[in-house]
Amino acid sequence: MDRSQKIFAELSEDFTKLQTVDLETLPKLSWEDIKLAHDLDFISRLFDQDLAVLEVQHCYEVTQKDLISGINQKPLWKMPEDVLFQCRGTYMAALSALKNESSFFLGGGMHHAMRFAGRGFCLLNDIVIAARKLQLDHGIKRCLIIDVDAHKGDGTTQITQHDDSIFTLSLHMKNAWPIDGSLGPGPWDLPSDLDIEFGIGEESLYLEKLTAALAQVDIAGFGFAFIVLGADAWEHDELKSTQSLKLNSDQMLARDQLIESTLAQFKIKRTYVMGGGYGERAHEPYVNFLKSLLN
Ligand SMILES: [Zn+2]
Repeated sequence: MDRSQKIFAELSEDFTKLQTVDLETLPKLSWEDIKLAHDLDFISRLFDQDLAVLEVQHCYEVTQKDLISGINQKPLWKMPEDVLFQCRGTYMAALSALKNESSFFLGGGMHHAMRFAGRGFCLLNDIVIAARKLQLDHGIKRCLIIDVDAHKGDGTTQITQHDDSIFTLSLHMKNAWPIDGSLGPGPWDLPSDLDIEFGIGEESLYLEKLTAALAQVDIAGFGFAFIVLGADAWEHDELKSTQSLKLNSDQMLARDQLIESTLAQFKIKRTYVMGGGYGERAHEPYVNFLKSLLN
């Protein structure tokens, strides 16, 4: 069971009316829509079976042997289609938030995907695609992206670098990925509109800095917000590269509730997406927050 299924199963115990959505009912996204966030060159590589395999290998850091069974028992060249489903889910959640003010998608948050390629387990940037679809088709003017995943939302930042209609706020570990710094300088260093970094041992400053960041952003001026609610900032996350930020369960819940109460105060329409979160217990912070919302 992956973390989304675990979240749904746990919530269903308390909230018996919860239902899953039939995947067929997800709004369609064309590859034209994907162009809202990605280069034509990159998109065309995803259409070519051989080149798509290379793109997927690079993005998911898998080796040749994974080609035999593939991820989820599928050949790697089929991955882009699966990832497109994630993008459709994020967009569906956003459409739901237009009607209901708020929504939470048990998926999405592929914030490392850059305009020119996927990377860091993120092939396509569902957040920017959905934000720009809302702007194009639903009259949303300014979008706010609050990214509290342990890693910097560098793909989102790179894609929206010259776009004043999308504001990126990212709270993340100062030194994270790759841990040895071997990547060198690159587009991942581009600044978000507001970056808040945390060094080792600075967890106790997290809520204070988040509060200050939210106060610094003119929340009322946005028509929509996406929140990349990465659970990998949690102390029990199992990914090696998240070990320099270890918020405890209370801090995680306070983080999520602070974002929610701030956006709700200004009635900002908003969609939460999951972002990163790794290991057996990765579902737990989401369950805690969602239970607090649903109760
Ligand atoms: Zn992450």
